[in-house]
Amino acid sequence: MPQTVSFGSQGPDVKTLQTKLNQIPPSQLPPLVANGIFGHKTLARVKEFQAKNSLVADGVAGPKTWDKLLASKQIIPAHNEFLCENADKENLSGAALVQQQFNAAKVQAPKPKIKFGVRSSSIGAPAGATAFSLAESGPFRFLTETQKNTAKTVYGNSLDFSRIFISNKSGLGGRAFTVAFKDSNEVVQIINCGKFDPSDRLLIHELAHVWQSQHHSDPFQFMKSAVDCQAGALTVNAAEVFSDPDVLLHSEHPVNFPFSAYAYLPGLSLASYGAEQMAQACHKGEAAVRAHIKGVAMNALDPDNVKAMKLTAFADRRMTGIVI
Ligand SMILES: [Zn+2]
Repeated sequence: MPQTVSFGSQGPDVKTLQTKLNQIPPSQLPPLVANGIFGHKTLARVKEFQAKNSLVADGVAGPKTWDKLLASKQIIPAHNEFLCENADKENLSGAALVQQQFNAAKVQAPKPKIKFGVRSSSIGAPAGATAFSLAESGPFRFLTETQKNTAKTVYGNSLDFSRIFISNKSGLGGRAFTVAFKDSNEVVQIINCGKFDPSDRLLIHELAHVWQSQHHSDPFQFMKSAVDCQAGALTVNAAEVFSDPDVLLHSEHPVNFPFSAYAYLPGLSLASYGAEQMAQACHKGEAAVRAHIKGVAMNALDPDNVKAMKLTAFADRRMTGIVI
């Protein structure tokens, strides 16, 4: 049993207290920084916990409070969602393969079914100069009108559909992934969703990566960012074993548990989210993120996106309020 701690206390028992308080629902108060210093925010959380558990709400974590706290069941958000493959290192080699297949498909496009995709002139090339043939039944297609309309409900007019293709390819374990590469004198984005008619939420998630590409000075940065975030989570998760051996029991340790590049704390601004967090926030309907995204003009550079793509961001799934 940890020692009795109260306002002003410091040390490992306070850190344990803060960590446990972060792991049990529900709280109206923001998560605590587990820094081992018992300040006003920790005091408020202790009092809240005591009141909810029929204890004397004096803010002093003594034996009775510890008993209840240590016996409280953690609520860990399960991920029953798809996780796209962009955060996996393998995605980077997958990107090269998709590019090869894209080039091959252009050469092999059957003549009778050719449809011409004429690029917008906003990239700087004369209209039509970068037009290329695209079979309607080919392996890389433009989004359908229905898909574009679905996309517009989230992205408004911020996506340049003339550079976006969908394929029925998928990555490891059948997971979706989005790649960008240079084709002739412009950058194209390809969402690989395993099929040509993905669910709306998968479509919205992958299009978030397209958005990250189209509104950045380096249109390939989103791929590196997603990988960096997962690598960061992996490192922290490996170290977490020493303070919480139970994490070893979780099926998603060490890649996605307890820290995950896909998990995020709701309510933050777009610039606070890493590549996968932002994509999750988009398809889950985070208001601030969606409002920001809609407000960016087609093909315009977005400084907040540039900031976000510099982050090595991940969140602790054991914390109350975290979404994955
Ligand atoms: Zn993703």
